[in-house]
Amino acid sequence: MNGKMVIISAPSGAGKSTMIRHLLEKGVKLEFSVSATTRKPRVNEKNGVEYYFLSVAEFKKKIAKGDFVEWEEVYKNQYYGTLKSEIDRIWAKGNHVLFDVDVKGGINLKKIFGHNAISIFIMPPSVRELEKRLLRRGTDDPSLIRTRVSKAAQEIKLADEFDNIVINDNLEVAEKEVYDLVKGFLDKKINRPV
Ligand code: ADP
Ligand code: 5GP
Repeated sequence: MNGKMVIISAPSGAGKSTMIRHLLEKGVKLEFSVSATTRKPRVNEKNGVEYYFLSVAEFKKKIAKGDFVEWEEVYKNQYYGTLKSEIDRIWAKGNHVLFDVDVKGGINLKKIFGHNAISIFIMPPSVRELEKRLLRRGTDDPSLIRTRVSKAAQEIKLADEFDNIVINDNLEVAEKEVYDLVKGFLDKKINRPV
């Protein structure tokens, strides 16, 4: 069976993981596509749950084998990629696929999957607020936070390329908006162009 895909993208710290946790808790037939990455696991992250953690050499081998639908060097020497095997695994179980990918990856996946996918951009209220959230989250060191914040302004410029933009200012409002968009999309029959 070919299911549908839900693509959630945003600058780092805008609230993707928070939205995704909420969606998965609501019990929709969505399963998270576990990406591969070369960044180091954060405290509490487990291999095969948040990511498949690989060395750069292992990641490059997978690129050469054609194992990825898309991949990006999101930060210097930090590669992230969507594995074809994840999509097959999730569809085989009769679930729809949920992606947490960077902004370029989100645009690429939407181009590949077209009407089978909805792409949602999570917009922070401001870049300043984004920085505050990253500092409060406390999972990245200050130089990495600076890199992430400086990339955000560029990423925000690409928001119009997404099907929907949700501003994550008030958390409950944003979570409901994302849930309503996803539920509406999953309940809808897809009208494929002939
Ligand atoms: P991302 O996955 O996009 O990097 P997270 O979901 O980890 O972002 O959110 C970054 C931080 O901001 C987390 O600590 C999260 O709890 C917090 N956060 C998310 N949404 C809001 C919001 N609407 N208001 C305040 N803090 C928020
Ligand atoms: P983090 O290191 O905070 O987990 O993720 C950094 C960025 O990489 C986030 O924007 C996240 O969405 C993105 N990302 C995670 N997995 C993938 C992937 O498979 N492909 C792409 N293009 N980006 C990804």
